[in-house]
Amino acid sequence: MKARRRTGPTDVVKAIVYDRDDGACARCGARDDLTIHHRMNRGMGGAREEWINQAHNLLLVCRTCNGWFEDNPRESYENGWKVRRPQLPGEVEVRYPDGSLYVLTPDGVRCTTVEAAR
Ligand SMILES: [Zn+2]
Repeated sequence: MKARRRTGPTDVVKAIVYDRDDGACARCGARDDLTIHHRMNRGMGGAREEWINQAHNLLLVCRTCNGWFEDNPRESYENGWKVRRPQLPGEVEVRYPDGSLYVLTPDGVRCTTVEAAR
């Protein structure tokens, strides 16, 4: 078998994201049909960035919301569900279903301010 280049997060990182987001969609709180969403995706110039598959660039979301992000980019950027340069995922707060904003860290913590995440 040929070696295949790894393009997604490891199982360990996926588990961290799942725990951090309490097993629920980060936008709507659904607990079914969940997947891992990249806030900034590889096609947005981050292919070689190590953080692309780290927890702060990832959200646990349902497939409905995952499609919604693509159809509603403006709201997605405003709420931190998507990130675009020059901003980086560690600098942009994410709105969770409880209405609170959190800054995410690479090791899978939700902080209430950018300062706390440093
Ligand atoms: Zn959802």
